[in-house]
Amino acid sequence: MENHQTATASSAHPNPHQQAHDFRCMVENSLDLIIKVSLSGHYTYVNPAFCALYGIEANNLLGRHYSEDVVEDDRAMVDVFFNQLFTPPYAVNFTHRENTARGIRRLEWTGKGLTNAQGELIEFVGIARDVTDRLDLIDKLSQQANHDDLTGLANRRFLMKQAHLELARAKRYQYPLSLFMLDIDHFKAVNDQYGHLSGDNVLKQLSQVMQYILREHDLVGRIGGEEFAVLLPETDLEAALAIAERLRLAVQEYSFRLLHDTPIALTVSIGIASSTEVAQNFEKLWHESDMRLYQAKTLGRNQIFPVITALTPQPS
Ligand code: GH3
Ligand code: MG
Ligand code: MG
Repeated sequence: MENHQTATASSAHPNPHQQAHDFRCMVENSLDLIIKVSLSGHYTYVNPAFCALYGIEANNLLGRHYSEDVVEDDRAMVDVFFNQLFTPPYAVNFTHRENTARGIRRLEWTGKGLTNAQGELIEFVGIARDVTDRLDLIDKLSQQANHDDLTGLANRRFLMKQAHLELARAKRYQYPLSLFMLDIDHFKAVNDQYGHLSGDNVLKQLSQVMQYILREHDLVGRIGGEEFAVLLPETDLEAALAIAERLRLAVQEYSFRLLHDTPIALTVSIGIASSTEVAQNFEKLWHESDMRLYQAKTLGRNQIFPVITALTPQPS
């Protein structure tokens, strides 16, 4: 009770020395990083948590420029935020990567300009927290939410989301976009004959073949058990047919390996639809390439639909 009364009395009539002591105590015991930086970007104060992160004593950090330990690729971004501190409201929030004694860590900063009695900017104060573990977890969870566990490819949901975005971009910039629907021929027989684990191995290998043949900006997704879709931005039907044919041949030639390394041959059927010939509408494009996959199967499998005629030189 006595303590409580003392605390109340001291906050009602703050003793400047006590107050300075309290603030120093808070800053020096904070687990967050607290610094002050001069207008030229050099440290003028660093708290013990900041020193501990670098494994360097305060005396050796004071005077150092803030950009010195920023990870190279983040340096331009940090400079932009630092420059923003010179204009109202003299406050920024950002997260960047820093080289520290604990390796590369991601720090989430709030920075604020301090002014004198005349309202002139005199220095900056920065407070940061090491958010590396939290951001790594978010990255891992979003990777899991968007990708298929077995093959590591985009999952159906992510591919569909990207397809909507790509289609909107294609409309805006007037470029064609094509979509493959691909299904392994007679895959049930592989499972029935060699077991599900061998089937899974084959699915992984097929996803690698697809990624190898397709271009970097094509998005390959596993949309069902042994069904895949590929989004090909800036690709018209004719170009898509040529790529599909390369893929079909690559799969046909590839020696897939079952468990215990037994080789097996496989083929795929592919249906293709293009935004310029079908519609700039995602549902129509998806439906049409699915129907065409079915037609490729009906034609006898190891086929592409539409059938490649445009690529065959006509006799003159
Ligand atoms: P079709 O040429 O008509 O496509 O014949 P299919 O046998 O490939 O087609 P169907 O749709 O009848 O069978 C697909 C089979 O794919 C069923 C199942 O055995 C297999 N499958 C689906 N998902 C997986 C999976 O995740 N792992 C494995 N190993 N097999 C799967
Ligand atoms: Mg199927
Ligand atoms: Mg199949």
